[in-house]
Amino acid sequence: MDNPLLIPSSLPFGAPRFDLIRTEHWKPAFQAAIAEGKAEVDAIAANPAPPTFANTVEALELAGAALDRVSGLFFNLLEAESDDAMQQIAEEVSPWLTEYELYISLNETLFARVKAVWDGRAALRLDPDQRKLLEESYKGFTRSGALLSPADKKTYAALEEELDLLELKYGKNVLDATNAFSLEITDEAELEGLPQYVRDAAAQAAREKGKTGWLFDLSHPSYVPFLQFSARAELREQLWRAFNARALGGPHDNRQICLKITELRRQIAQLLGYADWAAYELEERMAKSIGAVRKLLDELMAPSLPAARREVADLLAWAQGQGYAQTQMLPWDFPYWSERYRAEHYALSDEQLKPYFRLEDCIAAVFGLATRLYGVQFVERTDLPAYHPDVRIYDVQDADGRHLALFYADFFPRSGKRSGAWMTNFRELAVRGGVEERPLVSIVTNFTKPTADVPSLLTHDELTTLLHEFGHALHGMLAEGRYPSLTGTNVARDFVELPSQLMENWAFEPAWLHTFARHWQTGEAIPDALVERLVAARNYHAAYFQVRQLRFGLLDLAWHTLQEPANDETEALERAALAGCTVLPDIPDSCISTSFHHIFDGGYSAGYYSYKWAEVLEADAFSLFQERGILDRATAASFRENVLSKGGSEDEALLYRRFRGHEPDPQALLKKLEII
Ligand SMILES: [Zn+2]
Repeated sequence: MDNPLLIPSSLPFGAPRFDLIRTEHWKPAFQAAIAEGKAEVDAIAANPAPPTFANTVEALELAGAALDRVSGLFFNLLEAESDDAMQQIAEEVSPWLTEYELYISLNETLFARVKAVWDGRAALRLDPDQRKLLEESYKGFTRSGALLSPADKKTYAALEEELDLLELKYGKNVLDATNAFSLEITDEAELEGLPQYVRDAAAQAAREKGKTGWLFDLSHPSYVPFLQFSARAELREQLWRAFNARALGGPHDNRQICLKITELRRQIAQLLGYADWAAYELEERMAKSIGAVRKLLDELMAPSLPAARREVADLLAWAQGQGYAQTQMLPWDFPYWSERYRAEHYALSDEQLKPYFRLEDCIAAVFGLATRLYGVQFVERTDLPAYHPDVRIYDVQDADGRHLALFYADFFPRSGKRSGAWMTNFRELAVRGGVEERPLVSIVTNFTKPTADVPSLLTHDELTTLLHEFGHALHGMLAEGRYPSLTGTNVARDFVELPSQLMENWAFEPAWLHTFARHWQTGEAIPDALVERLVAARNYHAAYFQVRQLRFGLLDLAWHTLQEPANDETEALERAALAGCTVLPDIPDSCISTSFHHIFDGGYSAGYYSYKWAEVLEADAFSLFQERGILDRATAASFRENVLSKGGSEDEALLYRRFRGHEPDPQALLKKLEII
């Protein structure tokens, strides 16, 4: 009875009792919350009254509140403030949670009630968010086979199980193939061109394997800088060939598995009544149709391809002037010469910029930007408990003083916190029993911690990251609505990066940078020349990188629009998909598909296009700010009203059109990247 996870917090805004939560509280809290959730679900299914929107769909949405509360705290702390005991608990409770989800999704009595409401929807008078909730609820069941005959349900379950195992096998093959290769260097002369930090890491890697000299492998932190900096073309080629032939033949061959995975997905999609896997996946996205995705990729590709080829031709000519003896730019040489050209023409080191980006100033500037745009204020609360002394808590207030959210900011690395940066919610916005629970929003980063002598200073990339995560946070904090699954950042995957990527644009706006970027020691304003270089370097080789992303998107579509078993072998299918959009020479015995995690085992199947889709959205959205002023209150108010406040409560394509007045326009991204 004294478990702080199970009694409502008496603190202001229901702030979690991080001061009272102990490791031993988690498991009993999960057990009690799951039991409570099941009892609520049982009561909905067994309700003797005829099914209605309120007693079935809405009730189901709001069921399991205790479990949401416990999970919302536990899984975020597991990322940000974890230890072995937490990991152990996670392993124990994961199967409980899977079982709870199946308890709902396989509940036929419950589905029959949801279906009855769905079937009678034409006669219901529902608000837009209620219509969306009904649709999501119904589809949540049907997309996992609720409408199938008993025999087809068995087939579906068998296909899913086989797919799960093959995805695991695919991932393991990539990992094993990646780990199987290493490049050992014992002659220091062969390190030519590599910066000291790359050499140190390679020496460390060698020591860890009990070897002398330097060890390079195919992990990104080792592979990427080697290709960029090593002056030894034959070694770059060796590494490139190994990287691009991972799981292609040999003991960890993924070629048959690529075919098998996409074949199982095709069968699952068609069993559920869709033309292909892409149609099944896209139903839940803003893009909705394969036609819309193709149109976007094609419109971007048409001008980007010749522009990328020009970039490579220009680089080749420059490299030849520097002694490059090849007649074409080979793929293992491109990163090296690209980096050399960049260093010569756009050189801008982190060390030059960092003194101007003191974390405290950046935070104040980002908060100030939110105040200028949206009128919101951030009032620090030192009286509320945090899960670590580094975490700061703010009461976020609207222009009229109304409480919008608690905002937790956790900036510095420590053991028990994973790397990277992210935004999350401890609690989603919900209205329960007529009472509004405002969200508890958090951003977590790994910026350099201040010392006694030096404050925390950000690189420009880190400032961009801060803006990015803060953009997600605004989506959470400015949320309005009543259904937790439809508010804040709970939107389609190809829409969710719009608020975050939009905010990144300010990091390149001289007018905004000049409002706060001062040298932390001298107080001198950031020199114009530095800001100009920053902006100029932004689009370096933009067309090349755009084509690279578009090719991945096209390859993903080729695999996931198969409506019959593939006729081709893996390499032939890939070559056919990418024919006509090559920029660098095609190298035999290399393959993308056999190690393409995103689409084969990483949850981005038929979704790789989302990166470009989101870029088009943010470029097109930001172009309105550029037209009307980057601090224009009316444009911001419209973005808040039509996008940020709405979450996923209505069709995202509609929300976007209301803000922008037209469909997302790829021209905006092409202009931003200076391709047209
Ligand atoms: Zn993001």
